[in-house]
Amino acid sequence: MRIVLLGPPGSGKGTQAQRMEKRYGVPQISTGDIFRKAVAAKSELGAKVATYLDAGALVPDDLTMSLVRERLAQEDAERGFILDGFPRTVPQAVGVEEILREHGWELDAVINISIPTDVLVSRLTMRRVCPSCKTIYHMVDHPPGPNGLCTVCGTPVDVRPDDNVETIKKRMAVYSAQTAAVVDYYRKKSALIDVDGGAERDKVFDSIQKALEEKRRSRERRQ
Ligand code: AMP
Repeated sequence: MRIVLLGPPGSGKGTQAQRMEKRYGVPQISTGDIFRKAVAAKSELGAKVATYLDAGALVPDDLTMSLVRERLAQEDAERGFILDGFPRTVPQAVGVEEILREHGWELDAVINISIPTDVLVSRLTMRRVCPSCKTIYHMVDHPPGPNGLCTVCGTPVDVRPDDNVETIKKRMAVYSAQTAAVVDYYRKKSALIDVDGGAERDKVFDSIQKALEEKRRSRERRQ
């Protein structure tokens, strides 16, 4: 299964990608997670990308593309993948097509999680993330355990440094200016599945599973 998961910051992409990873047994590839890990490890890549992440700006396409190209060449991606937070620009969408062609792969679906902007800001300020196992919480709808500990692995949960109101606004502006065009790009190719991300997380996951199943059946009917 090869999936692209689109949606603005706070739409629930990460949460849904983690569930899909478990359900379909293919890796979630989150460019944001890869960049954050590099920053935390103080690696060469981390030094290059830290200022972009802090500012809520996009990492340049050439750097992002070479990283994704490398990640997709790893063995576990042969079984499939869920691309989470990538592509975020039209050149990245064109670039990923080239990588897919080189491997002889095709995308099974592009899922767009949409949600009203006013909900996004409150979701992001309420978000907490486990720095160890990456489980995502919401302080009201899906809180961590007592004393702010991750219910999966017991690590104290964190606020992402870019989940502050000022950087959130910047990330929203970047989404409108650069990433919304990616949705149109896939819509024009009639490859897009729209999912309402405003619902409760289990319902969103149900909608995704149903849409993927429907897509699989219609592909089988055509064959
Ligand atoms: P995310 O975890 O997806 O919200 O991404 C966090 C940050 O990582 C973004 O605000 C960007 O600075 C950077 N980033 C993640 N994915 C990409 C991408 N595909 N292209 C450029 N920058 C990205």
